[in-house]
Amino acid sequence: MDNTPFVEASIELRQRFMTLLDSLASLRALTDTGSRPGDESDLLAHALEVLLENQDLERCSVFLLEGEELRCAVGIDWSDRLAPPRVTRHHDAATFRLGEGLMGRAAAEGEMQFCDDCAQAEGYIPIPGAENAGSLICVPIRGGGKVLGVLNVSHPDPGFFHPWQRNILEIFSSVLGQMLQNHRLLAQMEQQVRSRTMELERALAEAQDLKRRFEELSVIDDLTRLHNRRFFFPEATAEIARAIRNGEDLCVVLLDLDFFKVINDSYGHAMGDEVLVDVAAMLKEQTREGDILARFGGEEFIIALPSTGIEGARPLAERICEAARQLRWQAGEEVVDITVSIGLSCLSRLPERLRREGDSEALLNELLKQADIALYEAKKHGRDQVWIAPPAR
Ligand code: GH3
Ligand code: MG
Ligand code: MG
Repeated sequence: MDNTPFVEASIELRQRFMTLLDSLASLRALTDTGSRPGDESDLLAHALEVLLENQDLERCSVFLLEGEELRCAVGIDWSDRLAPPRVTRHHDAATFRLGEGLMGRAAAEGEMQFCDDCAQAEGYIPIPGAENAGSLICVPIRGGGKVLGVLNVSHPDPGFFHPWQRNILEIFSSVLGQMLQNHRLLAQMEQQVRSRTMELERALAEAQDLKRRFEELSVIDDLTRLHNRRFFFPEATAEIARAIRNGEDLCVVLLDLDFFKVINDSYGHAMGDEVLVDVAAMLKEQTREGDILARFGGEEFIIALPSTGIEGARPLAERICEAARQLRWQAGEEVVDITVSIGLSCLSRLPERLRREGDSEALLNELLKQADIALYEAKKHGRDQVWIAPPAR
């Protein structure tokens, strides 16, 4: 009995079984990407490489749909099996309109298109990079219920593809479509997270800016734009601590306008305000960077002079007294002028015991107390003068 047909059938069956195993391997390799590809074209290139490696294929490409146009995202040619596959990405010149050629038709109709003999096929338009195709299969790639692009597989020989290969390509393409869709969703989410993060960072920066401005405002006196006592206390305390550490001196100048109430009463509150603003400007001019100048309240101003002993502070206080005498304002026909009284206290004149204890807040309180006593003395002795707190006995 001639058993040739059985032998042939069993060989064919075996071959089909082997190719089926290859097909399953390509699907498995497609989903088993290991690390997630960063770019969409990385994902597609990986997919096509998997396809070529696990199927006996030479050329394939993916065109993605952008509006009404299919644009080449990745193409792979492995006709020279001795060399690594040639990968082309973003071949911008390679485009097909929806409905144009087999590929365009596959995208437009959402149905696989193929030809076993392209030279004879009606409506066949060569795909760039696969011009001498004998056989061609174009499979739509679907994701999220839409056609995202087309997977093209070609071979120079006519009648090369077996019907089961079309089936497996359809399955492959549907898995690829799902992966592409997931990839896009993930990219969209990452983009959203990025832009949300940027929004948050911007909001945070604005909040910090607002906080800084608020803090700034809360230590600035509205009328004179000098610092206020809220600023003065911590700054002066820190300077006293530094002076004690470095064995340096520090003086405090406490200034009060003489008979200021009379100015308000005689020329009005607005005039009084103008005087305060000009006195503040004069004090700013007379002091150096590093001096801590503040409006202490009402018509009182204070200056802490770091690294300054009585021999430096006294001339400055005298200069301020003189500069105040020189100030002039016009109130109708009348010329307004002022004088100021100053009480001066000095760290080196405080009791040795207090300085040894090194409590800078207590030292500041004592400096203020001594300056206030000196100021009272200056007022008592005729105003328009500097009075210096005596050294502790
Ligand atoms: P002395 O020489 O003893 O210091 O007399 P004085 O009139 O300066 O002192 P007094 O404490 O009796 O009056 C201070 C005045 O300063 C009273 C208050 O209305 C006025 N004053 C305080 N703050 C302001 C302000 O912001 N603007 C104006 N225009 N006046 C102010
Ligand atoms: Mg006063
Ligand atoms: Mg006064």
